[in-house]
Amino acid sequence: RDRNRPPRHRYRLGVMGGTFDPIHHGHLVAASEVARRFALDEVVFVPTGRPWQKDAREVSEAEDRYLMTVIATASNPRFTVSRVDIDRPGPTYTVDTLRDLRTERGDDVDFFFITGADALSAILTWRGVEELFGLAHFVGVTRPGHELSVPPKEQVPEGRLTLMEVPALSISSTGCRDRVSEGDPIWYLVPDGIVQYIAKRGLYHDDEPDHAGHQ
Ligand code: ATP
Ligand code: MG
Repeated sequence: RDRNRPPRHRYRLGVMGGTFDPIHHGHLVAASEVARRFALDEVVFVPTGRPWQKDAREVSEAEDRYLMTVIATASNPRFTVSRVDIDRPGPTYTVDTLRDLRTERGDDVDFFFITGADALSAILTWRGVEELFGLAHFVGVTRPGHELSVPPKEQVPEGRLTLMEVPALSISSTGCRDRVSEGDPIWYLVPDGIVQYIAKRGLYHDDEPDHAGHQ
């Protein structure tokens, strides 16, 4: 590194967890907006293992969700993808995600955990939520159809949560899966490479064996 440069600021890492089944432009816009607003050096997308909240419905294979996340983020030099959650056996808990990333990245990194309004209100109902706020600054972003409301003061330590408006994209993975299974297009809701990957792998068709979870 250039010795004449001033000392580098602490590295600022955004963490965007999700099932990403599939990843869509709502995820990407949220990450990009938070990156800009918080001057993040990097946003790491972390596809979940088996999400404990989504036990009831089948989730696509981790490897497909991982690859789609790689494809969708490949063109952005500040976006990366981590395998910490899909390589850890068992259901994914955010506290484990943040602990593992901390171990991997070391102590000189500030963490910013990015969540949509729906995921944020879920998080606030968890046990051990105080520990979470110690591991990262939380950024709650707007999401059409979900209210982004200020949580009661006693739930969030001072200055550990920022609520932020991002351009509203009324896109959900569920909506994308439903469209594919109905034969409706998902062009422009997801990156082009994701349309092509879904077609190539035959994901989200009702007769698609992988997605039913029993091959
Ligand atoms: P599903 O319909 O399967 O639940 P999803 O669209 O909600 O999928 P997730 O992978 O569950 O996507 O979401 C990961 C994170 O991205 C969550 O914090 C969620 O709130 C946020 N998010 C998802 N879609 C949007 C959107 N359109 N705008 C803003 N945030 C979003
Ligand atoms: Mg969701």
